[in-house]
Amino acid sequence: MRAICLVGIGKIAVDQHIPAIAASPDWMLAATVSRAGAVDGVPAYTDFARMLAERPDIDTVSLCLPPVPRYDYAAAAIAAGRHVMLEKPPGATLAEVQALARMAQDAGVTLYTTWHSRMAKGVAPAKAWLADKIVTAAHITWKEDVRRWHPGQDWVFTPGGMGVFDPGSNALSIMTEILPQPVHLRHADLYFPANRDTPIAAELTWTGNVTGSFDWRQTGPQSWDIVVQTDNGTLALHDGGARLVIDGKDVESGADREYPALYDRMAELVKTAASEVDITPMIHVADALTLGKRHVVDAFDF
Ligand code: NAP
Repeated sequence: MRAICLVGIGKIAVDQHIPAIAASPDWMLAATVSRAGAVDGVPAYTDFARMLAERPDIDTVSLCLPPVPRYDYAAAAIAAGRHVMLEKPPGATLAEVQALARMAQDAGVTLYTTWHSRMAKGVAPAKAWLADKIVTAAHITWKEDVRRWHPGQDWVFTPGGMGVFDPGSNALSIMTEILPQPVHLRHADLYFPANRDTPIAAELTWTGNVTGSFDWRQTGPQSWDIVVQTDNGTLALHDGGARLVIDGKDVESGADREYPALYDRMAELVKTAASEVDITPMIHVADALTLGKRHVVDAFDF
């Protein structure tokens, strides 16, 4: 087993990372770094530099911080010769992720930009089914309740928090994985709450008849769906990629294990200090924020 340090003991660390590491045959949670959080029985640091200095036994860190503060932690970890795993989206800007990739390469350590939704169980079979099809149209519906998934997290509405593209990047990570031909953005309408700096909803149109509706104001049932029409049938991914339906029939594709699969992949990468860095989903977010028409909607408070 390899010793790993989890940094940022917040919602996703508690919901997913801690259970995935606990169940992994490859990893042992050897320390945490957080200003407030801790894990029972695991040495807890509040200062990252101190953890790096005092724990040479830990050669890998997994950063579960929001994107804006994450870069400084990643750069410090790489400079200290540690392998680094990044939550999605991998940075606040594209260039900072590219900078981290160069630093990791120069240091001979792994950098892994995780995209957990790509590990949803329907995604790999969807990609395989679409590989020899001609896509005639596709639509993403990604509508969820921000109060439920990001309770009180004001960082999502501050610059670099990406607003509805924080969950929307999950859809974009699937879209960029499964479509047999790349698409690029042609039009975007972005809906900003009057008191916030990032959009709470977005309507996007790409080339190839591909469209997407993203909204963080959906209460009740949540919608994480991608429907792809082809020259030879229709494919739908529901439940964030966990349920695959082809021509109206459910396709069984095994157990759903998004975060365990990310830690399996990280274990493979560190064995050879290889990196896996993919900013493609983030390019679409950056393009939407570059091209988007701004609409002001009702103020939002948690
Ligand atoms: P969160 O709970 O608000 O924050 C996670 C941790 O980051 C907290 O422990 C907090 O630290 C730390 N943190 C926040 N701001 C910081 C700052 N300025 N400097 C240093 N540490 C800071 O966020 P989250 O929901 O877990 O999301 C974190 C990442 O996971 C995001 O990139 C998000 O997209 C991704 N993610 C979230 C979800 C979800 O359902 N929420 C799902 C999948 C992926 P302290 O403990 O030190 O205060």
